[in-house]
Parts: sequence; structure tokens; C-alpha cells
Amino acid sequence: MSAIENLKKLTTEAAIVSSSASTLGWDQETYLPEGAHAWRARQLAWLSGRCHELSTSKEFGGALKSALDEVDSSDERSVGNLREMQRRFDRATKLPASLVERDSELSSHAKHAWSEARKKSDFSIFAPHLEALLELSREKAELWGYENESYDALIETYERGATTASVSKVFDELGPELRTIAAAAVERTKANPVKLPSGPYPVEQQTAFNEKVARSFGFDFNRGRIDTTAHPFCTTLGPSDIRLTTRYDESDFTSSLLGVMHEAGHGLYEQGLRQEDFGLPAGDSVSLGIHESQSRLWENHVGRSRQFWEHWLPVATDHFPQLKEIDIDDFLAVIHRAEFSFIRVEADEATYDLHILLRFNLEHRLMRGDLTVSDLPSAWNEAFEQSFGMTPPDDAHGCLQDIHWSMGGLGYFPTYTLGNLSGAQFFNAAMEDDAVRSGFAKAEYGPLLNWLGRNVHDLGATLDPSDIVRRATGNEPSAGAHLEHLRLRYTK
Ligand code: ZN
Repeated sequence: MSAIENLKKLTTEAAIVSSSASTLGWDQETYLPEGAHAWRARQLAWLSGRCHELSTSKEFGGALKSALDEVDSSDERSVGNLREMQRRFDRATKLPASLVERDSELSSHAKHAWSEARKKSDFSIFAPHLEALLELSREKAELWGYENESYDALIETYERGATTASVSKVFDELGPELRTIAAAAVERTKANPVKLPSGPYPVEQQTAFNEKVARSFGFDFNRGRIDTTAHPFCTTLGPSDIRLTTRYDESDFTSSLLGVMHEAGHGLYEQGLRQEDFGLPAGDSVSLGIHESQSRLWENHVGRSRQFWEHWLPVATDHFPQLKEIDIDDFLAVIHRAEFSFIRVEADEATYDLHILLRFNLEHRLMRGDLTVSDLPSAWNEAFEQSFGMTPPDDAHGCLQDIHWSMGGLGYFPTYTLGNLSGAQFFNAAMEDDAVRSGFAKAEYGPLLNWLGRNVHDLGATLDPSDIVRRATGNEPSAGAHLEHLRLRYTK
């Protein structure tokens, strides 16, 4: 057996174990009976330990080294695949097993404490856990290594190749203009407070309509499904098994629809990866930022556009007859509503990134030691007042609202905005293609999906995210395209 075949055999085994864990994880979020959680947690812990063992074993490291010696250096895809495998192997093996265990124990306690703290809006319950997680994050960063500052190593976890400096550069470009646009968008909504005709929008009709839209994007229901959960997500259970979830609100059909469009964007990326490379970086998504670029592109650039609704509003009216009462301009005003709100996950497109800039700044300061955990609530409120002109009524609406920090996920937040930025760049570049543009005008999305397939999905994780942006768009990663998009949609 060649070294590469041997390596493939090992990665396939790890992929079988990890996708089995994903399958159980999906079931846990959808259909698992309440009393079954304890055993499920044991199953998942065992599988994740097994997967970690397989992908950090000496045998694996040896096979990887032999494969790197054997690879044809002119074969860019194979080289990129092995390099990324090496990077993942190095990061995984740099952390001793004892630290990994401590990490998982700490996070599980922290998650529990956070949930209680949020319920009671009492930061003091969560503070000692955050302190410990922060200390552990610094420890991990030292083991992983970094260029300039420890926060770099955490960002690298979610967005490989990105650093505090590279993220700051595009965020600094974004910030000032974004504040102006967001303020204008909020004023415009106040001046024209249109509402969706009142419900009910029956769940059955929503399901049918959502499915039609997801199909038109190219989501393949032969290789995927949509189910119902409290918190929508997309997960991959195998090379031909991509699951989306949504939740329904009978007073507003756009809530589940926009959620489905978002998750379908994630799902189309997963369905666009090469099936024969499943379990390898070449058949894996490259980063959270690029993943989010796909979901935001389908949700916002396609699903919130006038061209989309010129075609789909009449179809929606067949499902929901009360939509006869609203014309397309008012309907667009409804889905382009903007207001300043405390909660990130409820924020609209125009104000969303302000929530991320705030978190990026605070976690950066926490990591540098410029901000102490005990000062976090007041620092949050002060920054919030500056950006949004209002102060959260309590910490549940402030620094306790998100789950990320309780899972040790420092460095995660910036990827949401990086996704908005590169999503806009991809969309602009795709629209320079005649077939994409004329398809888009007719609400036919095959050419757009093909463009994304060729320029993003098919590459898997063989290149850095920023290189994927450069190649696909001919431009450096920047905030320009996103700002231009927001300006046109929210201030004209
Ligand atoms: Zn997403």
C-alpha cells in the first residue's frame, strides 16, 4: 500500500467515528427523549475521545510524514490537503491529554454556570469560570504558538491564517462607515414602520414554501433534510447526508424562511465539497468565516434582494393569501427593517456587525490582560452605549447573552463578520459572470451555485481562507463590498 493510501485508510476510520458522533449529536438536538441525555453524553464523550486518539496517534503521524515525502509537489490540491492535515495534527498533538481533559471538564461546568448566570442575570456566578477559561486559553495559546500575541492563536482555531492584526485591519475599515449606515437604516425604519399582514402563517404552509425555496437554491433533498429545533443549525452526518433545522413562528413566516435560507447556505457548501474526499481537509470546509460567507450570501444577498421577491412574493401569496394585502415595496421594507437591539442573534443585517465589533474588542482586551473579568460587565455596557446609544437593562441582555465564551470559544465571534465581508466579495465577483447575473435576475440560481462550487466549495480546505477570497475575487479581503452592499440597501 502506498503511504497516501495508508493515510487515507486511517483518516477514513476517524471520519467514520466522528460522523457517527455527529449523527448522535443531531439526534440529541432533534428527537432524543429527555431521559436519554445521560447515556447520549457518555456515547459522545467516548466517540470524541476515540476520534482524538485516532487522529493524533503515532501511527497517524508516521503515515502523514510518509505521505508528505511521497506527494507529487506539483499537485497543488494534494499538497494543500496534506499541509492542512499536518497543521491540524500539530495543533491537536501540541496539547497534552491532561489539558484536553481539563478543558472539557472546565467547559462543561462553565456552560452550566453560564446558563444559570444568564437565567438569574447574575454575572458573579459565571465570573470565576470565565477567569479559569481565560487562563486556560492563554495556556493553550502558548502551547500552540503565535506570531505576535496570544489572541492570534485563538483566532487561528476558527480562521486559519487570520491574526489579530489582519482582523483589526478589516474591522477598522468597517467600523466608522458601518455606524453611519446602521444609524441611517434605523432612522429610515422609524420613518416607515410597515408591518407584515397578520398571521396565522400555518407551519405546514411554511414548510412547503421553505422547501421550494431551498430546492431553487440547489439544496439536494436526496442528500439532506430539514427538521425542527429550538436553535436552528446545519450539520453534516456523512458525505451525502446534510441536515438543516429551523423553527416556526406562525405570526411571521419570514423568520423560519430566512433561517432556512441561511442554513441552506451552509448546507450547499457542505453538499458542494467533494464526496470522495470526505474525512480529508480536501473534502472539508476551510473555516467558520468562509462557512458563514456562504450562509450570509444566500440569506442576505439572494434572499433579501428585490429580484428574489419579484419572483417569490406571488408564490408566497399562493401559500399565505393574506400577503395579497402587501405590495413588494412594503414587503421589502419589512424584511429590511433595522433597529438597535440588545441581543446579537436577533439583530438585523444593518446593525449585526456592530455586535461583533464590540465582542472582538472586549475579548481581545481580556486576552491581553487590559481588561479584567470583573470589569467585563461595565466595559460591555459602556461600549454598548457608545455603539448603540442605549445601555443593557441587565447582564442577561449584555455580556451574558452568548454561549460562546462559556465553551472557551474566544476567537470565534470575529468569524461572523469575516463571513459577511467575504460573502459580499464573493457575491460581487460572481455577479460579474453573465450567466450568474442573468440567472439571478430570473430567480434561477444554478449558475450562482456553480460559480460558488468552482471558486469556493470544490477547494475544500486546501488553501487558506484569505487565499480563497483572493483567487475567487481578484481582491484582498476587505470591508468595501459589504459596506457598499449595506449602503445601497439601507440608505438609498
Ligand atoms: Zn451561520
